[in-house]
This record gives sequence, structure tokens and C-alpha cells, in this order.
Amino acid sequence: MERPPQRWEPARGTAVPPGGPSFTTMVLRGARNRCPICGEGHVFQGYLRIVPECSVCHAPLGRVRADDAPPYFTLFIVAHILVPPIFWIEKAYQPPMWLHMVVWLPLFALICVAMLRPVKGAVLGWMLRLGITGDPHGESQGDYSAAQSAAPPVPGNEGGVPGTSGSPVRPRPAPEGRHG
Ligand SMILES: [Zn+2]
Repeated sequence: MERPPQRWEPARGTAVPPGGPSFTTMVLRGARNRCPICGEGHVFQGYLRIVPECSVCHAPLGRVRADDAPPYFTLFIVAHILVPPIFWIEKAYQPPMWLHMVVWLPLFALICVAMLRPVKGAVLGWMLRLGITGDPHGESQGDYSAAQSAAPPVPGNEGGVPGTSGSPVRPRPAPEGRHG
């Protein structure tokens, strides 16, 4: 029996290890809050925060950056679920507008909140299947503030270039908004 690797890495050029799970399997596992690779570890700690790595197979789940894709797909799905009955009820019963607002807006919010997590898990499985696992050399592990603090330093004055006295090289102005 082989021990699980200390640091999981996708094979170069392929999204998952040979014989890995299929696209459908990985998406469904993610949607059920299960690691898309092994199907056993959890994807989320809390509501939407992704664990740094799978507790079972050490897949670097926290490195995957789904960004705006989960809310985009959530809105897309929820709108297609709710808009047809809204139109049908309006056409059949013509309720007052305040009743529409009282019923549909909270319902819309509730379904979005309920669906955001499974949709994010499914997007995670999809991205892992495609091999979109973030920067393999990055140490941020999905930490946005760490990625920001790793910004390249502002270059200083490189000095004048000989023979260009007519157009002196000026130092780059300091970035604004960082004082105080
Ligand atoms: Zn796993």
C-alpha cells in the first residue's frame, strides 16, 4: 500500500493524475462539498472558504481561484428557475407590485445563498479537471492579501544615460494614496 504524497501535484500537461476521476465525477463531488480528486475530504471550511488542501489526498484545493465564476453561475441558474414562474403568476393573477417584491426578492436571496456553495464546489471541480490550479510557485495558497503584498517593488531612478543630456531621465513618481 502506498502512502499519499506529501505534496499533491497535477501531472504536467494533464489536468488530473492518470486514471483520475471524470469531469462529471469531479463536478458532482465538488457540489457535494467533497474533494473532487479523492471524493472523501471536505472542500469548505465554513460557508465559502476553501480549505488550503484536502485533508485526505492533500490536493491543493486552496490554490484554485474561482473568483467571480460561482456567483455568475448562481445568478444564471437562479434567474432561470425564478423568472418563468414570476412571469406566469403575473400573467395569470396580476398581483400588486408590492406582493411581487415581498415574495420574490427574499426567495431570490434565499435560493442564491443556498446554491452558492454547491455551485462554488462544482466550479472548483471543473477547474481542477481542467488543470487550472493557480500558480504552482506561489506561496499565497489563495490568500489575496498575501498576493497583494508580493507586488514587485517600484524601481528607483536608474540614472542618466550617457549622451542623452537633452532628455534627462526623470525618476518615476511615487505611487499615490499610500501616505498616512
Ligand atoms: Zn482529496
